[in-house]
Amino acid sequence: MKRVLSGGIAQESHSFNPIVTRRERFTIQSGNDAVARNRGANSTLGGIISSADEVGTEVEVPILFRAQSGGPVEDSVFEEVKDAMVAAARKGSFDAIVLPLHGGMLTTSLSDPEGDLIQALRDVVGPDVPITAAFDLHAHVTERTIAPLDFLSAYLTNPHGDQAATSRRAFQAARDILEGRLDPRCAAVLFPMLTLGNDRTDEAPLRRIHAYAKAQVDNGSVYDVSIFNAQQFLDVKDLGQVVLVYGNGENEVAQRVADEIAGSLWASRDELVGTYPSLDSCLDRIETENRTLVLGDQGDRVAGGGPGDSTFILNRLIERNFNEPAVVPIYAPEEVQKCMAAGVGAEIVLTFGGRYSTVSPPIRAEGRVTASGSKTPVVYDGPSDGGTTIHLDDWAIFQFGKIQVLLTSQPYAFIDPAYYRAVGVDLRVTKLIVVRSGYHFSLNFASVGECITIDTPGITSYYVDRLPWNTARPFYPVDKIDYSPRHYLRSRQAKAL
Ligand SMILES: [Zn+2]
Repeated sequence: MKRVLSGGIAQESHSFNPIVTRRERFTIQSGNDAVARNRGANSTLGGIISSADEVGTEVEVPILFRAQSGGPVEDSVFEEVKDAMVAAARKGSFDAIVLPLHGGMLTTSLSDPEGDLIQALRDVVGPDVPITAAFDLHAHVTERTIAPLDFLSAYLTNPHGDQAATSRRAFQAARDILEGRLDPRCAAVLFPMLTLGNDRTDEAPLRRIHAYAKAQVDNGSVYDVSIFNAQQFLDVKDLGQVVLVYGNGENEVAQRVADEIAGSLWASRDELVGTYPSLDSCLDRIETENRTLVLGDQGDRVAGGGPGDSTFILNRLIERNFNEPAVVPIYAPEEVQKCMAAGVGAEIVLTFGGRYSTVSPPIRAEGRVTASGSKTPVVYDGPSDGGTTIHLDDWAIFQFGKIQVLLTSQPYAFIDPAYYRAVGVDLRVTKLIVVRSGYHFSLNFASVGECITIDTPGITSYYVDRLPWNTARPFYPVDKIDYSPRHYLRSRQAKAL
C-alpha cells in the first residue's frame, strides 16, 4: 500500500440547533500541513498517519474540515469538501481511501452527507479500491452509509479516548484487504432505540456489552465489532442503534454476534437511560466541602450540538450570591466585540447569553473586562483528542464578583483545561469550572477537579420527549414500541478477491 487518500469533513449536528454551521466555524487543514499537524495526535487523522508512517505509506489529504458540534452544516461547505475529495480521487493512483469522519453530520438539505461523500468516492474509484472509515460511535449509520464502504469502525469508548486506535483499525483493514488477508463480510442490525445518559462504555451496562464484543474479536470469531449509539438529537429517518460486525470471508457468525449484541442493547434499554445530580446539590458541595468541581452543563452541551449560550447555571449563581471563584463560558459574539471595543480594564454594563438557548433569560450585569484575545491557539492536553490544535476566535473575559464569564465569538465544548489556560484563567484557584460537554471533559479534567455532568434544561438534555420531532419517531424510549430490528448484509464485490 503506497498511497492512501484521506481527509473529508467531520462535525456532529443537532437538528434543533437553529445556528447553521458555516465555513468560519471549521478548522481547515490540507496537504503536508494537515499531515504534519496531526502526526502524533490522538485524532482519527492522527491514527491514520501513525499507521501509514509505520509501513511507509504516503497519506494525501486534499482537505480536512473539522468543527465542534452544532447546527446543520451549510450545504455549500459540504459541497466544497466533496468536490475537493472527488477531484483528488479522480486524479487517481491511490491504493486505498481511509476516511476520518464523524458520521453524525447533517447539512441543511442532507441527512446522511457522509454516505453521500463515500458513494461519490466509490463512483470514482470503482469496486476494487478499498474504502474504509473511522466514525464516532455517535454516528448516524444507515444501510446507505455502509453500502459503499468496505469497512467501517467506531470508537469503542465513551467518553472518547480511542480516536487514533479506531482509525488505525480502518487503515489496517484497507491493508488487509489489499494484501489478501481480509474478505470483509458485514452483518448489521439496526433498530429504533436511543441511549439517553447512562451510556458510558466504562460503566454498566455498556461495559459488559463491549467486553462481549471484544471477546468475539479477540478469539477470532469475527474481524471487528462496532456499536453505534447514535447522536440522540438527529431528526432523521432510521435514527437508532446500529451494531456492525465484520466477518472474514463469511458473515454467518458475524450475523449471530450482531444479533446477540443488539439483543443485549435492547434488553438493557431502560438501564441505558440515566439521571444526573442537580446544580444546587453541586454548588452546596463546593461551598461546604471546599472542593473544586468541573460541571458539565448537560442541557447545553456544545459537544452534543447545543448553542453554548445557556445562562441557566450563571443565573443560579447570581440568585444564590455564589461567592467562590468560578468560570462560565457563554457564546456571545456581539458582546465579545463590545468588550474588545471597551478594552481590558473597562467597567461596563453588559447583557449577554440566552439568545439561542431559551431555557433561562439573558444576564444583565455590571463588570470589568479583564482580558481579551483573538486567534488564540489551544493545544489539547488529552487524552481525548490529545495533541489537537484549535484556535479560539475572538474572546473576552467579563468579570463580576468572583465570577469570570468567558465570552466567545464561536461556541466551544471546552472539553480540555487547555482552553482556560489559553485565556489566562488559573484553574488551581477556581472552585467551579463550567464546561459544555457531558462526557469527554471528564477524561481531560480528571486532574483538575471532580467532574460531574449536571441535570440542566436545554436542547441537549436527555429529556428528548420535549423536542419537536418530525421524522425520527417512533423510537424507544419516547415511544413504547416493540423490538423491530432491520438486518443488512454486505459482501465486497471487488474482482480481486
Ligand atoms: Zn461522540
